Order: sequence, then structure tokens, then C-alpha cells
Amino acid sequence: MFPAWKRRTVFAVGTLVVGAFALPGAAPVSIATTSADCSSARVAPGAHVKERNEISQAEANLREADLRTKLAKAPISAQAGGTVQVVFHVVTGNNGLGAISDATIAKQIQVLNDGFAGAEAPGTAANTGFKFVLQATKRWSNNTWFNNVDDPTTERQMKSATRVGGAATLNVWSTNTSYLGFATFPSSSSATSKTDGVVISFTSVPGGSATNFNLGKTLTHETGHWMGLYHTFQGGCTTTNDRVSDTPAQSSSTSGCPAGRDSCNLPGLDPIHNYMDYSYDSCYNQFTPGQNARIQSAWTAYRAGK
Ligand SMILES: [Zn+2]
Repeated sequence: MFPAWKRRTVFAVGTLVVGAFALPGAAPVSIATTSADCSSARVAPGAHVKERNEISQAEANLREADLRTKLAKAPISAQAGGTVQVVFHVVTGNNGLGAISDATIAKQIQVLNDGFAGAEAPGTAANTGFKFVLQATKRWSNNTWFNNVDDPTTERQMKSATRVGGAATLNVWSTNTSYLGFATFPSSSSATSKTDGVVISFTSVPGGSATNFNLGKTLTHETGHWMGLYHTFQGGCTTTNDRVSDTPAQSSSTSGCPAGRDSCNLPGLDPIHNYMDYSYDSCYNQFTPGQNARIQSAWTAYRAGK
């Protein structure tokens, strides 16, 4: 079995409580940081946490500076959207565990497209103009890759052996990760990276076994990271928070779907319906126009044509 994995918490000044996600049968984990420092915490073995894209403010600042430098050289003239080729790697373990069907993959791609088209909250959600097209489904029977993908060495080995395309191709690996999913952010190295892409739990796909997280929106969330978005709770109760102006600040991730949650003394309720929070799949329904602008910028800077 896996050791207890380190999970990075967000950087914050003051006290911040970060609620980790756990599936039924695993006790929820809360992590409290009490200093202005980037700290890590352990997650109980077997806990099924959302993912590991919680980054420090220092890392967010570095990424922001690089993005601004890129955009200064090549300003965004219009929101272009575009077609994103998707290569879906179905990794299976012993006895074929994880063998999700072609029909399920088709449903998963539809969920992804609905999210990026704003179809779940018409008139409120942003339509990014991006369309995801399944280029290929590849099936890999490898018990080590399936069960040990959380180990960075195994992750790299699996991805290097199977990854297709450049920075503009979305590679998805469905595995038995102990997270719901995790993703690489876009960067200057995305074009040559052998590890670029998204890993999801095979239990998170539509009809999967991850209770409250089996409508396929983990892939929407992780692809949001892959397109350059941070969590809506990045930065906590600060005015810059997730670097998107129309996602109100929130102090910590959301569990479930608590209507009216307002965790910061700053304008706006917590964006619990946003794909970049940790709410239940059934609670998710939108990216915002501000997130869409960030997606377009990051796509142009790091992925378009690469
Ligand atoms: Zn995330």
C-alpha cells in the first residue's frame, strides 16, 4: 500500500484551515497552518484526497511572473478557444481493474466539453470556446503504473513511455491514484515535457465508484489546472488570491455544496460552484469569464501550436 502522502497546503498569512477531501470510509482530514510559511501535512493512509495541485504563494508568484513576461511579448488579441486533441490512456491493474469502457470515455469527454462550453450554467458560466476531441484511446495493462502512480518515479516512467504529442495535446491517464486527480500546470517547459498532462482516478469518471465525485468533473477541474487555473482558494483571504478577479476570495477549500458559504471578510460569497474549488461534482457548474481570460492567456503563452 501507499505510504501517507505529503500534501502541500496553500501559503497564507495567519491561520488557515485546509480541509482535505476524503471519500466515505476515510476520515476527513483537516490541516491547520499557523504561520506565514508554506507547510506540508500528512494525509492518513487510504484517504482519497482531491489532488496535489495546491501550490505555495511563492510558486504561484513565479508562475505569474513568467506568464506576464510571455504575454508582454505576445499580447492576447482575442479569445480564440480552439480544438484540443485528447489522448486517453486507460491504465489497468491485475484482473483488469480500471478498465473503463469506450462509452464511459465518450461520456467523460462530453462532461469536459460541457464544462468548458459553460453548458452547466448558461448565462453565468463562461464559454471558453475550447472543444476537446478524443484523438485516441490507449490501453495499458501495468499493475505498477496503475497502483503506484503517486510515486513520482513511477509517474514519470509511465508518462514517458506513453505520452503522445506536444504541449497542445491533452494526455489523460486513468489510474488507481489515491488522489482524485492531479495535473501539470502550463509552463515554458510544457512543449518538451514528457510528463505533461492529467492523471485521474478511474473511480472519478461518469458512473465510477467515487461517491459524490463520479460525474466526471475531476477531469474538468484537473484540465482547468492544465490550462493555467489555480484553485479558487489559492492565496486564501487576499485580494489577489487566485489571480482571477471575478472569483471571490475564500479562506479554504469547500466540502460538499454549502450554500451561502462566506469564509472571507472580502466581497462576494465563496465560489462553491466553481470547477476549481473542491466541492462535490454535483455542485460544480462553472468557470468564470475571468478564468476564461486566464485560460486563453496561458494557452497562447504555453500551449497553442506547441
Ligand atoms: Zn486542483
